[in-house]
Amino acid sequence: MDTFIPISQPSIGEKELAYVSDAVRSGWVSSLGPYIESFERKFAAFCGSRFALTASNGTTALHLALLAAGIEAGDEVIVPDLTFIATANAAAYIGARPVLVDIDVETLCISPAAIERAITPKTRAIVPVHLYGHPADMDPINAIAEKHGLVVIEDAAEAHGAEYRGRRVGTLGKCAVFSFYGNKVITSGEGGMITTDDEALYTKAKRLRDHAMSPDKRYWHEEIGYNYRMTNLQAALGVAQLERIDAFMAQRRDVVGWYREALAHRRRNVYCMVCVEVEGMGDAGRQHLMGELRKRGVDSRPYFYPISDMPMYGSADTPVAHRVSHSGINLPSFTDLTREQVLHICAQLEAVLPADAAR
Ligand SMILES: *Cc1c(COP(=O)(O)O)cnc(C)c1O
Repeated sequence: MDTFIPISQPSIGEKELAYVSDAVRSGWVSSLGPYIESFERKFAAFCGSRFALTASNGTTALHLALLAAGIEAGDEVIVPDLTFIATANAAAYIGARPVLVDIDVETLCISPAAIERAITPKTRAIVPVHLYGHPADMDPINAIAEKHGLVVIEDAAEAHGAEYRGRRVGTLGKCAVFSFYGNKVITSGEGGMITTDDEALYTKAKRLRDHAMSPDKRYWHEEIGYNYRMTNLQAALGVAQLERIDAFMAQRRDVVGWYREALAHRRRNVYCMVCVEVEGMGDAGRQHLMGELRKRGVDSRPYFYPISDMPMYGSADTPVAHRVSHSGINLPSFTDLTREQVLHICAQLEAVLPADAAR
């Protein structure tokens, strides 16, 4: 096999071409048009939520969700230290303080015990992230939130269709946020979505998304809003992808199964984003490993760095996030991977890893 296998690649077919062409031809190229409404309705049905609201990307959806949930400057928002930077940035946009807490070593998601330790009188919200497609442990998180009167906002940007105790993510908190960036389960180019059962939150997020324009009086604004709308073109791509998502999820389950088989002796959990951790490797060892894989035609990416290592967010006592972050890589895990490719990737990994290294 001499072709390069990328870490991620969208599955784009005739349906996507047809819907996007239709949207372009119709002249509805900005944020009005039938695909927006269709994407929202179908996505709500997919998750099992009452409402869904499109946004220009996952980060703006998070920002809107926090605003609509009433988070204000000076509030504290608890987020896991191991996540994509946007989870923390969205709180910072409001002047709220992201409080970075440790993760659970098995799920790589936020640790409920660590949440409990981080609560102060200023805490207003918890943002659990379903990292790499694995749902966070939502029952204890919701119990803690209820006990302390906190809002739970799921960051489900990487977890479309993932289930926790028989329910899909997107319905497990006050609201949830998804991303449709090109490397997510489905894509709209750039794009985001908020799901919720809470009508007031939905209405507030919708108004803020459109410059906080008064619903009764055009071009009248009583607070500062945003232009965080998705376009009908993006929604056309999103609808086509959403109509194929059941097949995508089945294909991804196959991909994960092939990895699991090939790496069984290495005792590794395999999620939607395939994760491999090599203990004691360190950041330099990891860069070397990724370079060796690349030479063999296999793309990979490092786990996210702990957010508390970034200069703007200070430090945090998060030993698990630090240990795991510096020893983990993600392997290619997109929908259209074949079994042959997965076996090839695993063979290359075996060739560059010491026999007893990965766990
Ligand atoms: C991708 C991602 C986001 C942000 O989504 P964008 O659409 O890229 O803005 C937020 N949180 C997590 C965990 C993500 O992976």
